[in-house]
Amino acid sequence: MGKLDGRVVLVTGAARGQGEQEVRLFAAEGAKVVLGDVLDEQGSAVAKELGADVARYVHLDVGEEADWPAAITAAKEAFGSLDGLVNNAGILRAGPLVGTSLQEFVEVCRVNQLGTFLGMRAAAPELIAAGGGTIVNTSSVAALSGMLLLSSYSASKAAVLAMTRVAALELASQGVRVNAMCPGAIDTPMTDPAGRDPSAGPAGAAERAAAFYRKAVPLGRIGRPEEIARLALYLTAEDSSYVTGQHFVADGGWIAGVPLGA
Ligand code: NAD
Repeated sequence: MGKLDGRVVLVTGAARGQGEQEVRLFAAEGAKVVLGDVLDEQGSAVAKELGADVARYVHLDVGEEADWPAAITAAKEAFGSLDGLVNNAGILRAGPLVGTSLQEFVEVCRVNQLGTFLGMRAAAPELIAAGGGTIVNTSSVAALSGMLLLSSYSASKAAVLAMTRVAALELASQGVRVNAMCPGAIDTPMTDPAGRDPSAGPAGAAERAAAFYRKAVPLGRIGRPEEIARLALYLTAEDSSYVTGQHFVADGGWIAGVPLGA
């Protein structure tokens, strides 16, 4: 018996990173999964590997209103209904407040904030029609603690938490639970140190990043996407049946306090 037997869950941004691990774990726990992303080749390859009886890929730009009905229809046509959504898709842009362009700020909010809103709005009627369901939104520790250079990202992720609470209140009586995850630093392409510090070379950048996490994170390391997938599973499965409107931090203790000697 899987924890998600009989469930149909749409995961956005599922072509790689945390979203990919979420669909892999959900499928292993008995769910039918629909993968939405803008990386069509990568997303299709993951769905193909999982198998057509279990997984479908759809092109879904979460910030495009018109893409959502097509994604919901694809889920229903493939698997009959939709009773779970993980709003995972997101982008990160880092830079000083005064150097952040309007275009960059708006694009980060379009994907992270508007994408989450459009996803909840499109999926909620389907989850209600299915007799109840779950929404898991992806926020960040950047919504809870100030972090240098992340003004647009932090704003978008704080909005995700605010919307999570409102949606939970509005949908509770119809059997839909809505929660949010706040990951700390997780080892995915988004945080690839070589991408963030090309001057150090791949090995140097990786070592610098590892040294940073050893010092900054009480558990002494960056998180693994599988560890966030397990939290998403908890919030999607019956294990969390009495939980709604909450956020859950998975950050190795990063924002629990200031390390002694820091
Ligand atoms: P990632 O960059 O590896 O994956 C993000 C996925 O979202 C990619 O597959 C990407 O193609 C997709 N995506 C981007 N824009 C999209 C759009 N407009 N429509 C649909 N899909 C889109 O990063 P990740 O670490 O797996 O991030 C997953 C989520 O976790 C994001 O919301 C991110 O903000 C959040 N998060 C990540 C970290 C971290 O340290 N990696 C920490 C806290 C929160």
